[in-house]
Amino acid sequence: MTRGTGPARDRDRADVVTMAHGAGGKASQALVQSVFARAFANPALDAMGDAALVDVPAGRLAFSTDSFVVSPLDFPGGCLGDLAVNGTVNDLAACGATPLALSAGFIVEEGFPRSELEHQARAMAQAAARAGVAVVTGDTKVVQRGRGDGCYVNTSGIGLVSPSALAISPAAARPGDRVLVSGPIGDHGTAVMLARGELGLEADVVSDTAALADLVQALLGAVGGAVHCLRDPTRGGVASVLNEIAASSGTAVVVNERDVPVRDGVRGVCELLGLDPLYVACEGRMLAFVSPGAAGAALEAMRAHPMGAGAADIGYVTADPAGMVLAESGFGGPRVLDMLVGDPLPRIC
Ligand code: MG
Repeated sequence: MTRGTGPARDRDRADVVTMAHGAGGKASQALVQSVFARAFANPALDAMGDAALVDVPAGRLAFSTDSFVVSPLDFPGGCLGDLAVNGTVNDLAACGATPLALSAGFIVEEGFPRSELEHQARAMAQAAARAGVAVVTGDTKVVQRGRGDGCYVNTSGIGLVSPSALAISPAAARPGDRVLVSGPIGDHGTAVMLARGELGLEADVVSDTAALADLVQALLGAVGGAVHCLRDPTRGGVASVLNEIAASSGTAVVVNERDVPVRDGVRGVCELLGLDPLYVACEGRMLAFVSPGAAGAALEAMRAHPMGAGAADIGYVTADPAGMVLAESGFGGPRVLDMLVGDPLPRIC
């Protein structure tokens, strides 16, 4: 999808977002009604109060927020809109929570095509429907031309934590745990990088963007309290997330590199660019730290779910060297996998 620039884009003012759409008056209301209320319709949103009213079951709530500035807005396998839903749903899922409600805040640049805004809103609504959650409240602001880059979205979400997940935490990984990943890694970061078309590379790589709350519930249903820690390896990839967990839990993580699932297309692009797939973002994968005795059943449960068909056991937790992540390739000694330094792939989510 391309959009024009300059005056041509504004020829029909009704076809683009204008400053008036963000002013809170008649135009704002018309935009909200025609784009967002239509896409997200549900009783809590339809009431159009200052805040959405959501009935919440007793228990512990998970609450998360994330902003999405991906460029380009559309890429193979997804777009800004479904990324914005899946990203927040997956942060809730990583706490063992089933999402209850989402908010959506849009920051739109003056001149942004209304059709594109509608497209992103539709994609959000579809992703929310797939994840079984409603967008119940939202906000729209418009910034002057040149002061934004099309459209940014922030989503926040609340979710109910499953009783079997109450102890799940990055600090709860313990020596002996097996480290499972729900599928091949690095698809999202690679797909977005290729979609920018700046590298002159072509490869058949599709983003893995997907909601994982249902996969997590299947995993918890199968092995419950044997799951000690969950994390979605987004920015910084698997290696950075494992470092955070090693630091939080005061353990070491050993990755068996040959067991890490990486698609050929991703591997090829990473080799050409000198990137390590272990540092490339996923948007539809979950890492699970599971008691050794339950790891087989956990892997089976993940593989039986459509979102976990490519799940693999990629390593284990050990006591030393505490706070570090090591990769074993089978050749020579282990290498240290540090946190990602800098950002070789900006604005991938
Ligand atoms: Mg996360």
